[in-house]
Amino acid sequence: MVSRKLRCVVCGRVFYEGQGIKISIAGKDLHFHSKSCALKFFKSLILYIDQKELERAVKATISEYEERLKELEEKSQKKIEAL
Ligand SMILES: [Zn+2]
Repeated sequence: MVSRKLRCVVCGRVFYEGQGIKISIAGKDLHFHSKSCALKFFKSLILYIDQKELERAVKATISEYEERLKELEEKSQKKIEAL
């Protein structure tokens, strides 16, 4: 089976399917050859988002990760107590 050739939407580098990063967003499949190109893309993307919406999205994302961290901390706390 021949791998499909893909092109990084940020830097234009050509790479084979299975390498790089694929992100499906807003009905589009985006291909990036590296994490740094994906990060560049998303840094530009957020500038086009409505600031109010962005504020809400940032808050929601922060609390999602705070929840996750809290769970992890509680789990490690339980492990320590079990010792
Ligand atoms: Zn790239």
